[in-house]
Amino acid sequence: MLAVKNYKFWFCVGSQDLYGDECLANVAAHAKEIVEKLNASGKLPFEVEWRPTLITNELIRKTFNEANNDENCAGVIVWCHTFSPAKSWILGLKELRKPLLHLHTQYNEEIPYDSIDMDFMNENQAAHGDREWGHIVSRMGIERKVVVGYWADPVVQEKIGSWMRTAVGVVESSHIRVMRVADNMRNVAVTEGDKVEAQIKFGWEVDAYPVNEIAKSVEAVSQSDTNALVDEYYEKYDILLEGRDPEEFKKHVAVQAQIELGFERFLEEKNYQAIVTHFGDLGSLKQLPGLAIQRLMEKGYGFGAEGDWKVAAMVRLMKIMTTGIKNAKGTSMLEDYTYNLVKGKEGILEAHMLEICPTIADGPISIKCQPLSMGDREDPARLVFTSKEGQGIATSLIDLGDRFRLIINTVDCKKNEKPMPKLPTATNFWTPQPDLYTGAEAWILAGGAHHTAFSYDLTAEQMGDWAAAMGIEAVYIDNDTTIRNFKRDLMLGDVVYSRR
Ligand code: MN
Repeated sequence: MLAVKNYKFWFCVGSQDLYGDECLANVAAHAKEIVEKLNASGKLPFEVEWRPTLITNELIRKTFNEANNDENCAGVIVWCHTFSPAKSWILGLKELRKPLLHLHTQYNEEIPYDSIDMDFMNENQAAHGDREWGHIVSRMGIERKVVVGYWADPVVQEKIGSWMRTAVGVVESSHIRVMRVADNMRNVAVTEGDKVEAQIKFGWEVDAYPVNEIAKSVEAVSQSDTNALVDEYYEKYDILLEGRDPEEFKKHVAVQAQIELGFERFLEEKNYQAIVTHFGDLGSLKQLPGLAIQRLMEKGYGFGAEGDWKVAAMVRLMKIMTTGIKNAKGTSMLEDYTYNLVKGKEGILEAHMLEICPTIADGPISIKCQPLSMGDREDPARLVFTSKEGQGIATSLIDLGDRFRLIINTVDCKKNEKPMPKLPTATNFWTPQPDLYTGAEAWILAGGAHHTAFSYDLTAEQMGDWAAAMGIEAVYIDNDTTIRNFKRDLMLGDVVYSRR
């Protein structure tokens, strides 16, 4: 389901015709060589494509509009090999709508001390050509990423690769469609939001369907399809009967299998990539979708619980941005549930009633079937597991009434200190950076929600760059955070963003 287009990034090198044909021939040859070697580096998740050297107002404008109109182009990478007078770029830049990376590099790594002359200086002057170019982009207030360094340096290549994922997030954001088969949970504030503004800012389409329409799609799934999926579950997961009758248990699991198939078919038919449910609004569904939603998230769908469409869209976005990462550790919706406040072991137990994506699991995954304390349906089957260790990011997109704010907390995930045999949900356990006390204080001051979109495979920088490209405020909570500075960040955000 999670198939991201085979995107390409255009490599556009700036120059001018002042230095003669030989110089321009070298510029083009060097650019082609760089493109070839970047593509061979194995560091880039998407291909780079060479474009003819940009030297005139007309060509720049034409090239950028071609980039706009090429749906396979997810961004433009610009580098000025020589000087390239920046007024020539104004009209093109004004019209460019694709994500922009300024690669501030140089063809040669080292100054050629023995042979350097003025011809060399003219040909290799990114150090000053790129400053001229950067000036006009700043003056025009255009959002872009700047990566500095030698193009063959793996660190630089990784930075380009990391930005490519952000750019794909920017381009793909406007293709996210969230299906609401339940409204926001009554009286809850933080999961609410302005759906019209979300479409204006992020391109998200958030639509409602009566829950019984999707329930009908579930009822239409045949017994044989359902049984085949149940067999797959029983092969893949451990079954924790915990005293329940095996046949009765299997019937409960089959309800989730039927929901998985019915939901997926309905989402595909209507072209949605994310969904929200609500335990209090289930229509004729027999169980709250648990295992079913967990499996759909694993396939790449976004999900938000209790009608939380912002989280559903964010989970989908982050799954798109992490597509194809080798040894990916996972992306899921999570919820801050309960604390461990023992000194030296502080952290937050992350869980939800049911719906946590198995991509974040570490070790075996089991199916359990237990009553829910909320709602009025039969005991739902769900996947239970613990999560991987390591760094991740928890994000919360909130609507402040006059604007959106993205809160990004870098967190350190740890193994649970002890097993929790009576807890019938999947969990993650993390300590927010810089520590629980500062992290939670900052999160609360920023107005962050209890639901989060979490990933091991993205960085705060990538999400912050995405927010910047969307024109919204982002605040970071990490090892550099102090409450005094964080409050100043929030005050600055109030000044900058509430006037837009
Ligand atoms: Mn919840």
